[in-house]
Amino acid sequence: MTRKERFQFVLDYFSKHNPDAATELLYDDPYQLLVAVILSAQCTDKRVNMTTPAIFERWPDAGSMAKASFDELFPYIRSISYPNNKTKHLIGMAQMLLAKFGGQVPLTVEELVQLPGVGRKTANVITSVVDNQPNMAVDTHVFRVAARIGLTVNAKTPLATEKQLLEFIPRDMVHIAHHWLILHGRYVCVARTPKCAECGLQQACKYFAKHYGAAVAETERLPVVKTRTTRTVKSPAKSKPAAKRTTKKLK
Ligand code: SF4
Repeated sequence: MTRKERFQFVLDYFSKHNPDAATELLYDDPYQLLVAVILSAQCTDKRVNMTTPAIFERWPDAGSMAKASFDELFPYIRSISYPNNKTKHLIGMAQMLLAKFGGQVPLTVEELVQLPGVGRKTANVITSVVDNQPNMAVDTHVFRVAARIGLTVNAKTPLATEKQLLEFIPRDMVHIAHHWLILHGRYVCVARTPKCAECGLQQACKYFAKHYGAAVAETERLPVVKTRTTRTVKSPAKSKPAAKRTTKKLK
Protein backbone atom coordinates (compact mmCIF):
# COMPACT_ATOMS: atom_id res chain seq x y z
CA MET A 1 0.00 0.00 0.00
CA THR A 2 1.43 3.39 -0.95
CA ARG A 3 1.28 6.28 1.46
CA LYS A 4 -1.36 7.94 -0.67
CA GLU A 5 -3.47 4.78 -0.58
CA ARG A 6 -2.99 4.58 3.18
CA PHE A 7 -4.35 8.09 3.59
CA GLN A 8 -7.23 7.32 1.26
CA PHE A 9 -8.14 4.21 3.22
CA VAL A 10 -8.12 6.08 6.52
CA LEU A 11 -10.12 9.03 5.21
CA ASP A 12 -12.65 6.73 3.54
CA TYR A 13 -13.02 4.68 6.70
CA PHE A 14 -13.70 7.64 8.94
CA SER A 15 -15.90 9.38 6.38
CA LYS A 16 -18.09 6.31 6.43
CA HIS A 17 -17.98 5.47 10.13
CA ASN A 18 -17.77 8.87 11.82
CA PRO A 19 -18.98 11.52 9.37
CA ASP A 20 -20.06 13.95 12.09
CA ALA A 21 -16.97 13.94 14.27
CA ALA A 22 -16.62 17.05 16.41
CA THR A 23 -14.83 18.32 19.45
CA GLU A 24 -15.98 16.87 22.76
CA LEU A 25 -15.46 20.19 24.50
CA LEU A 26 -18.73 21.95 25.35
CA TYR A 27 -19.05 25.58 24.26
CA ASP A 28 -21.52 28.06 22.82
CA ASP A 29 -19.28 30.63 21.17
CA PRO A 30 -15.64 31.21 20.16
CA TYR A 31 -14.79 32.82 23.52
CA GLN A 32 -16.06 29.79 25.42
CA LEU A 33 -14.22 27.44 23.07
CA LEU A 34 -11.02 29.39 23.59
CA VAL A 35 -11.39 29.19 27.37
CA ALA A 36 -12.10 25.45 27.14
CA VAL A 37 -9.16 24.74 24.83
CA ILE A 38 -6.75 26.68 27.04
CA LEU A 39 -7.96 24.68 30.03
CA SER A 40 -7.71 21.38 28.14
CA ALA A 41 -3.91 21.40 27.86
CA GLN A 42 -2.67 18.29 29.70
CA CYS A 43 -6.20 17.66 30.91
CA THR A 44 -9.13 15.56 29.70
CA ASP A 45 -12.07 17.13 27.90
CA LYS A 46 -14.33 15.42 30.41
CA ARG A 47 -12.70 17.23 33.31
CA VAL A 48 -12.77 20.54 31.45
CA ASN A 49 -16.48 20.09 30.70
CA MET A 50 -17.15 19.61 34.39
CA THR A 51 -15.42 22.90 35.12
CA THR A 52 -16.46 25.32 32.40
CA PRO A 53 -20.22 25.73 33.06
CA ALA A 54 -19.57 27.58 36.32
CA ILE A 55 -16.84 29.68 34.69
CA PHE A 56 -19.06 30.62 31.75
CA GLU A 57 -21.90 31.52 34.07
CA ARG A 58 -19.82 33.89 36.14
CA TRP A 59 -17.64 35.24 33.31
CA PRO A 60 -19.73 34.88 30.14
CA ASP A 61 -17.50 36.95 27.87
CA ALA A 62 -14.06 38.44 27.49
CA GLY A 63 -15.18 41.73 29.05
CA SER A 64 -16.16 40.11 32.33
CA MET A 65 -13.24 37.67 32.37
CA ALA A 66 -10.81 40.56 31.87
CA LYS A 67 -11.94 42.01 35.19
CA ALA A 68 -11.62 38.76 37.15
CA SER A 69 -8.95 38.60 39.81
CA PHE A 70 -6.62 35.65 40.22
CA ASP A 71 -8.15 34.82 43.60
CA GLU A 72 -11.66 34.83 42.20
CA LEU A 73 -10.91 32.60 39.21
CA PHE A 74 -8.40 30.19 40.71
CA PRO A 75 -10.92 28.16 42.80
CA TYR A 76 -12.88 27.38 39.63
CA ILE A 77 -9.79 25.93 37.99
CA ARG A 78 -8.19 24.27 40.99
CA SER A 79 -9.18 20.75 39.89
CA ILE A 80 -7.52 21.13 36.49
CA SER A 81 -3.85 20.58 35.73
CA TYR A 82 -1.59 23.63 35.99
CA PRO A 83 -4.25 25.82 37.64
CA ASN A 84 -1.86 28.68 38.45
CA ASN A 85 -0.73 29.20 34.90
CA LYS A 86 -4.16 28.61 33.41
CA THR A 87 -5.77 31.15 35.74
CA LYS A 88 -3.22 33.76 34.68
CA HIS A 89 -3.60 32.80 31.02
CA LEU A 90 -7.39 33.12 31.00
CA ILE A 91 -7.34 36.56 32.57
CA GLY A 92 -4.46 37.71 30.36
CA MET A 93 -6.13 36.26 27.26
CA ALA A 94 -9.37 38.14 28.01
CA GLN A 95 -7.53 41.38 28.67
CA MET A 96 -5.68 41.12 25.37
CA LEU A 97 -8.87 40.26 23.51
CA LEU A 98 -10.28 43.55 24.79
CA ALA A 99 -7.15 45.59 24.23
CA LYS A 100 -6.24 44.32 20.75
CA PHE A 101 -9.21 42.58 19.20
CA GLY A 102 -12.29 44.47 20.35
CA GLY A 103 -13.30 41.69 22.72
CA GLN A 104 -13.71 39.22 19.85
CA VAL A 105 -11.72 36.05 19.27
CA PRO A 106 -9.60 36.60 16.15
CA LEU A 107 -9.70 33.82 13.60
CA THR A 108 -6.19 33.72 12.26
CA VAL A 109 -3.43 31.60 13.72
CA GLU A 110 -1.04 34.57 13.61
CA GLU A 111 -3.33 36.68 15.78
CA LEU A 112 -4.38 33.90 18.13
CA VAL A 113 -0.84 32.91 19.09
CA GLN A 114 -0.31 36.42 20.47
CA LEU A 115 -2.76 35.63 23.27
CA PRO A 116 -1.47 34.32 26.61
CA GLY A 117 -1.86 30.56 26.87
CA VAL A 118 -2.41 30.13 23.15
CA GLY A 119 0.16 28.21 21.13
CA ARG A 120 0.04 26.90 17.58
CA LYS A 121 -1.97 23.83 18.55
CA THR A 122 -4.66 25.85 20.31
CA ALA A 123 -4.80 28.37 17.47
CA ASN A 124 -5.22 25.54 14.97
CA VAL A 125 -8.05 24.06 17.04
CA ILE A 126 -9.89 27.37 17.27
CA THR A 127 -9.60 28.23 13.59
CA SER A 128 -10.51 24.74 12.39
CA VAL A 129 -13.41 24.20 14.81
CA VAL A 130 -14.93 27.69 14.57
CA ASP A 131 -14.19 28.40 10.93
CA ASN A 132 -13.41 25.01 9.31
CA GLN A 133 -10.01 26.36 8.28
CA PRO A 134 -7.60 23.70 6.97
CA ASN A 135 -5.38 23.84 10.05
CA MET A 136 -4.29 20.60 11.68
CA ALA A 137 -3.87 20.73 15.45
CA VAL A 138 -1.42 18.05 16.48
CA ASP A 139 -1.86 16.87 20.04
CA THR A 140 -0.47 13.74 21.61
CA HIS A 141 -3.23 11.57 20.08
CA VAL A 142 -2.81 12.89 16.55
CA PHE A 143 0.97 12.59 16.82
CA ARG A 144 0.84 8.97 18.01
CA VAL A 145 -1.95 7.69 15.77
CA ALA A 146 -0.53 9.24 12.60
CA ALA A 147 2.86 7.70 13.32
CA ARG A 148 1.49 4.27 14.16
CA ILE A 149 -0.65 4.02 11.07
CA GLY A 150 2.18 5.29 8.89
CA LEU A 151 0.52 8.50 7.81
CA THR A 152 3.65 10.24 9.00
CA VAL A 153 7.18 9.01 8.53
CA ASN A 154 9.94 9.93 10.96
CA ALA A 155 8.05 12.99 12.13
CA LYS A 156 9.88 14.00 15.28
CA THR A 157 7.85 17.05 16.23
CA PRO A 158 4.19 18.12 16.16
CA LEU A 159 5.05 20.64 13.47
CA ALA A 160 6.59 17.93 11.28
CA THR A 161 3.48 15.80 11.81
CA GLU A 162 1.27 18.74 10.92
CA LYS A 163 3.16 19.39 7.68
CA GLN A 164 3.11 15.76 6.58
CA LEU A 165 -0.60 15.38 7.27
CA LEU A 166 -1.39 18.57 5.38
CA GLU A 167 0.54 17.23 2.40
CA PHE A 168 -1.89 14.36 1.91
CA ILE A 169 -5.23 15.34 3.43
CA PRO A 170 -7.50 17.34 1.10
CA ARG A 171 -7.96 20.89 2.40
CA ASP A 172 -11.68 20.53 2.86
CA MET A 173 -11.20 17.47 5.07
CA VAL A 174 -8.47 18.76 7.38
CA HIS A 175 -10.78 20.18 10.03
CA ILE A 176 -12.68 16.92 10.47
CA ALA A 177 -9.61 14.70 10.04
CA HIS A 178 -8.25 16.37 13.15
CA HIS A 179 -11.23 15.09 15.15
CA TRP A 180 -11.03 11.65 13.57
CA LEU A 181 -7.44 11.16 14.63
CA ILE A 182 -7.98 12.55 18.12
CA LEU A 183 -11.04 10.41 18.79
CA HIS A 184 -9.36 7.33 17.37
CA GLY A 185 -6.41 7.92 19.67
CA ARG A 186 -8.65 8.57 22.65
CA TYR A 187 -10.85 5.49 22.32
CA VAL A 188 -9.19 2.88 20.09
CA CYS A 189 -5.54 3.54 19.29
CA VAL A 190 -4.83 4.33 22.92
CA ALA A 191 -1.33 5.10 24.10
CA ARG A 192 -0.30 2.10 26.12
CA THR A 193 -1.99 -0.81 24.36
CA PRO A 194 -3.84 0.02 21.16
CA LYS A 195 -7.07 -1.92 20.71
CA CYS A 196 -6.05 -3.34 17.35
CA ALA A 197 -8.57 -6.18 17.48
CA GLU A 198 -11.37 -3.60 17.46
CA CYS A 199 -9.85 -1.34 14.85
CA GLY A 200 -11.16 -0.91 11.34
CA LEU A 201 -7.84 0.45 10.12
CA GLN A 202 -5.90 -2.79 10.39
CA GLN A 203 -5.44 -3.19 6.66
CA ALA A 204 -3.83 0.22 6.33
CA CYS A 205 -1.84 0.28 9.56
CA LYS A 206 1.90 -0.14 9.63
CA TYR A 207 1.91 -0.83 13.36
CA PHE A 208 -0.59 -3.64 12.89
CA ALA A 209 1.39 -5.15 10.05
CA LYS A 210 4.58 -4.96 12.06
CA HIS A 211 3.22 -6.39 15.31
CA TYR A 212 0.81 -8.98 14.00
CA GLY A 213 2.65 -10.05 10.89
CA ALA A 214 2.26 -8.85 7.35
CA ALA A 215 -0.44 -11.39 6.62
CA VAL A 216 -3.47 -9.14 7.00
CA ALA A 217 -1.87 -6.05 5.53
CA GLU A 218 -0.89 -7.93 2.42
CA THR A 219 -4.03 -10.00 1.80
CA GLU A 220 -4.80 -8.15 -1.38
CA ARG A 221 -1.55 -9.20 -2.97
CA LEU A 222 -0.38 -12.33 -1.20
CA PRO A 223 -2.25 -15.43 -0.15
CA VAL A 224 -1.71 -16.09 3.54
CA VAL A 225 0.14 -19.34 3.93
CA LYS A 226 0.22 -20.61 7.46
CA THR A 227 3.44 -22.31 8.31
CA ARG A 228 4.87 -23.18 11.65
CA THR A 229 6.64 -19.86 11.67
CA THR A 230 3.66 -17.77 10.55
CA ARG A 231 2.25 -15.82 13.41
CA THR A 232 -1.49 -16.20 13.73
CA VAL A 233 -3.44 -12.97 13.68
CA LYS A 234 -7.11 -12.16 13.87
CA SER A 235 -8.48 -12.02 10.36
CA PRO A 236 -10.36 -8.90 9.19
CA ALA A 237 -13.52 -11.01 9.11
CA LYS A 238 -13.13 -11.90 12.76
CA SER A 239 -12.51 -8.34 13.77
CA LYS A 240 -15.54 -6.92 11.95
CA PRO A 241 -18.06 -7.09 14.81
CA ALA A 242 -15.58 -5.39 17.11
CA ALA A 243 -15.11 -2.60 14.57
CA LYS A 244 -18.83 -1.90 14.81
CA ARG A 245 -18.47 -1.43 18.54
CA THR A 246 -15.70 1.02 17.86
CA THR A 247 -17.89 3.07 15.58
CA LYS A 248 -20.50 3.28 18.26
CA LYS A 249 -17.98 4.59 20.72
CA LEU A 250 -16.71 7.22 18.34
CA LYS A 251 -20.17 8.53 17.69
S1 SF4 B 1 -4.58 -1.22 13.99
FE1 SF4 B 1 -3.90 -0.82 16.10
S2 SF4 B 1 -2.14 0.55 15.93
FE2 SF4 B 1 -3.23 0.57 13.96
S3 SF4 B 1 -4.60 2.34 14.09
FE3 SF4 B 1 -5.74 0.54 14.74
S4 SF4 B 1 -5.52 0.48 16.98
FE4 SF4 B 1 -3.93 1.85 16.17
